[in-house]
Amino acid sequence: MPARESPVDACPGALRLHKAADGPLARVRLPGGMLTGPQLTALASLAAAFGDGHLELTSRANVQLRALREADPAVLAARLSAAGLLPSETHETVRNIAAPPLADATIRALVTDLDRALCATPALAALPGRFLFAIGPTTLDADVAALPVADEAFAILFAGHDAGLRVAADGVVAALLAAANAFLAERAAQAGSASDAPAWRLHELPNGPARVAVRTAAVLGLPTSTVGAGKPADAPPASVATDGLPLFPPPLEPVRQIGFVREGMGDPTPTLTPAPTLAPAPAPIGVVRQGDGLVAVGALVPLGRLGGEALRLLATARRLVVTPWRGVVVPDLTPEAARRWARALDDAGLPVDPTTRWAGVTACAGRPGCAKSLADVRADADSTSAYSDGLPVHWIGCARGCGSPSGPHVRVEATPSGYAVTRQPDEEMFTGDTARAVAAARRI
Ligand code: SF4
Repeated sequence: MPARESPVDACPGALRLHKAADGPLARVRLPGGMLTGPQLTALASLAAAFGDGHLELTSRANVQLRALREADPAVLAARLSAAGLLPSETHETVRNIAAPPLADATIRALVTDLDRALCATPALAALPGRFLFAIGPTTLDADVAALPVADEAFAILFAGHDAGLRVAADGVVAALLAAANAFLAERAAQAGSASDAPAWRLHELPNGPARVAVRTAAVLGLPTSTVGAGKPADAPPASVATDGLPLFPPPLEPVRQIGFVREGMGDPTPTLTPAPTLAPAPAPIGVVRQGDGLVAVGALVPLGRLGGEALRLLATARRLVVTPWRGVVVPDLTPEAARRWARALDDAGLPVDPTTRWAGVTACAGRPGCAKSLADVRADADSTSAYSDGLPVHWIGCARGCGSPSGPHVRVEATPSGYAVTRQPDEEMFTGDTARAVAAARRI
């Protein structure tokens, strides 16, 4: 977790602009990473009119506009609102909802419903800007998540821990809102007991997952006997290759379990079973089958910078999904249309080949966008990167480590004496020439 520099939650938003070295920065939330072609056009025109002409994709599948030196915040807000990208001024920084890039219609509808219900709940405007919901299996570390399991039920997970709480699809939104409210209530109850800085994430609260699970079950009226059984979430059916195309989402890794002390459930003192190491899921790159008969094309956006011809091309799509791998998916295509899209995306500079040198390579803003950066990490990543099917690698300009993947990865951190290359989470160090050290560290 990055070192916290201030107890104040100053997570950037579309209204709360961040003062970056290259000018004000706006972050626009995209629940589920979803947006339409016309919305991308609106974002592109804002970037061209007020910013540096590019969109920046984030590790949580949101979009940032940089260098907004010429922007009138009121005009910016009005244009985002007109495009349907700012449905709530009070809740804009808490609309953090992750979903699989190729989510089916049920999960997409749940994301939209949760977004609406979240924005309609005044108390939840107090959520931290880092608090993350998820619906469906994702690679992101969600605070509260609903995961499809057997018998059309959803498991409600708390910071990746399974307390055995199950709801039907029509209960998912209520359960996630109850869990978010429970987080705020538990945080208030623990205020002053652990540290002066309020918790921003569920795992930062002592016994947070278990305590919030019990509060959530109580609000939902579920008997406590159904919570704490410690049943693992049942994995959905494994992916299979069909017609030579990979089927997404990939198989689910096991989640962590909460083992409750069964007595005194009113004040649980749970024992948490150690979490298994989660293997990073592959990014959807190239033509992939969706599972509903249609196909999609996934492309990587090198270093998350989207502009020029690629932006114009993507804006012609009916529907798009931004992915946490700094990529974009064009879904709901016929195989023939998918092949055309793949060629066009590749021609526009967005790789669709899984063996591209950009596979698994990400970087923070670095110089000149960030004043804290000790290096132009994007330029260095560009000049150094080669294809590897090993661990993902993330380049950062300082120890803060913005945008670092939550799972195992190689960290390339700029320091006053050059780059420090380590394999995370065990921090094994690799020395010597940076390119060689990165290549060695990525090898599993
Ligand atoms: S990690 Fe990168 S973007 Fe974050 S503060 Fe450091 S240099 Fe800036």
